Amino acid sequence: MNRRARRASASAARQGRPTGAAPAPGRPAGVAPAPDSPVARLHRAVSETGRGVAGAILASARTVEAVHTIVERAGALGDAYMARSPTDPSVLACKKGCNACCSRPVGTTAPSVLRLVAWLREHRTAEELAEVHRRVVALDDVTHGKMWTPRERPPNPCALLVDGACSVYEVRPFVCRAWNAVDAEDCKRTTGQDAVEMRFDLYQRAVFAAVEDGVKLALADAGLDGGDLELTASLRAALERPDAGEAWLAGEPVFAGCEAKPPQGRRRLPVAP
Ligand code: SF4
Repeated sequence: MNRRARRASASAARQGRPTGAAPAPGRPAGVAPAPDSPVARLHRAVSETGRGVAGAILASARTVEAVHTIVERAGALGDAYMARSPTDPSVLACKKGCNACCSRPVGTTAPSVLRLVAWLREHRTAEELAEVHRRVVALDDVTHGKMWTPRERPPNPCALLVDGACSVYEVRPFVCRAWNAVDAEDCKRTTGQDAVEMRFDLYQRAVFAAVEDGVKLALADAGLDGGDLELTASLRAALERPDAGEAWLAGEPVFAGCEAKPPQGRRRLPVAP
């Protein structure tokens, strides 16, 4: 993003002007900018870098550990771009204690789920892990397989939301890192309405959407399944199968039935071919 585009983006957010429109509930939310717009160029740069990084890791080792490394390196790539963000963070409503966005369905991919579950196994006791599993199952029993419309899938707090905060913040899905809002009330409205115009930092959304897309492109290059998954269902699948990572790498349908179901007509940032 050039200096002029950065100024425009920051200025739009600062002035509270719409910087994008949130489509119907479900994440990742996206917009479809003109192919040569600054945000599309940003998206291409990040996704191609991520694709290269993830592809090189997969080429050197096709193991569960390598999959975890891909997610970590992709997250670091996003963080590096965010360190150069032109947006003044004070214009955003996002802060600890605000979890308005955590009742929306969350889209993710197999590597992120596998990394998240490995992190839980490393950082939680057996009892705590059992409690996480219980919460995930309870939510999945309510939401499994439902379309991501407010009518079919009313807002439900994420199973990983504990005492009002994300309990897996450092390994949360990329779409959770992408989401932001200038006004928390706009954000709350998006959980229960089909389509809400809201103001957000397009730079942050573009960066983490592109990070996710870069990983997906590398998976496709390697013949691995990088399809969009629904977080709760895929967490359940990975928690209930200790060899989920190895099985997914071997091409087994570990996450069958866990597919994301965003409303029809959802458009995303373009993915580089
Ligand atoms: S993973 Fe964390 S940030 Fe994402 S919806 Fe769940 S609680 Fe919120």
